[in-house]
Amino acid sequence: MDGDPYGHLIEAVFAPIRSVPLNESAEPRPTEPSGPNHQAQEMTPEQLAEAKRYGRQGLVCDLADRAVDIVYLGIMALVLAPTIDAWLRGWPLLADRWTLRLAVMYLIVFGAHLAVSFPLSLYSGHVLEHRYGLSNQTCGAWLWRYAKRMTLGAALELAMYVGLFWLIWTTGSYWWPLAAGASFLVTVLLGQLAPVLILPLFYHTERLDYPELLARLGKLAEGTGLSIEGVYRLDLSEETVKGNAMLVGLGRTRRVLLGDTLLGQYSLDELEVIFAHEIGHHVFRHIWKLILLGLVYSTVGFWICDRLLVLWASPASGPIPYAQLPIYTLPLFMLILRVFFNLVEPIQNTISRHYERQCDRYALEQTGHKEAFISAFLRLSRLNKDDPDPPWLETALLHSHPPIGRRVAMAEAFDRP
Ligand SMILES: [Zn+2]
Repeated sequence: MDGDPYGHLIEAVFAPIRSVPLNESAEPRPTEPSGPNHQAQEMTPEQLAEAKRYGRQGLVCDLADRAVDIVYLGIMALVLAPTIDAWLRGWPLLADRWTLRLAVMYLIVFGAHLAVSFPLSLYSGHVLEHRYGLSNQTCGAWLWRYAKRMTLGAALELAMYVGLFWLIWTTGSYWWPLAAGASFLVTVLLGQLAPVLILPLFYHTERLDYPELLARLGKLAEGTGLSIEGVYRLDLSEETVKGNAMLVGLGRTRRVLLGDTLLGQYSLDELEVIFAHEIGHHVFRHIWKLILLGLVYSTVGFWICDRLLVLWASPASGPIPYAQLPIYTLPLFMLILRVFFNLVEPIQNTISRHYERQCDRYALEQTGHKEAFISAFLRLSRLNKDDPDPPWLETALLHSHPPIGRRVAMAEAFDRP
């Protein structure tokens, strides 16, 4: 929930590793006994009010960020881009070099977008987190990480748009299925490389060295095809007090990451439940299913771009040849994809929440630790200031995970078969 202008691209890059986080958090403080008396973990009315306030402010930032993106790209696409392109064509170096001019156009669009959206990013990603006592980062550390995210995002997105325009210019009307196929291959490749190449740029990870826990996790992983070698500790505490766990990677890089913020906090039973939930994502092949869903989305999204870009760029005399699709259509391309992905996000979230419920049930069935499940989630919601019962419309449209209140209620009603 931060206001990164190109957050959607980063999310796409991280999709295979971000797609299935547990969305849990915990404060690094001395281990607290978590017995059957999980009422101790429930929020007080003041804590609940604070969580609702935090949730509302985060929601406002998120919606404002989306609105800023669309208004900015709209103005750029429909008003400014033709003028900027005409100005770039006046440069001798760029006049006949379409790919180079496209790259410069992209950098202008990206740079101006960064300037417009930075204040909101800083506010939602840094100021708000500090106000609620959820961040461990200095402003300098936040800025450094933001700069890395933006640089990586820009580099990948630039490569993507150069590739898309190249397909349009060279393959004509077949570009969109080819582009969807190519983006599928890139997603699979990035899914494999992200845990070993991209993730280390942002977080330190190392093999989990906790023999007692590993012995228990090994039993849960038996027969699932997930190697217990692939359990890593993820150093989140440099950045946040929030904890998380996730299944990442494809093939040989498949692994479970457990946030250090969880490890210091949770009882062995609770960690087992969390791990079992992540194994559920592995067993049900959720990462592959989400990648295939991405293929469907990108096919439809690129087809819509095809129709609208040609319509926008064509003179009254007839459709423009693909080989001459002008560079000033770039921001429109970005705008269409942005709007399209905002529109399909509720569908994606509905599927994701279904997957989460599936894994919650799996975790309960495999471990039988109903009390540990409930206490872990109640504590999370309290310490993470995570509203256990947000408005249903907000959940339906924007949340990839079910509200914690529902997850706890599901566990309370759970009878082990
Ligand atoms: Zn999950």
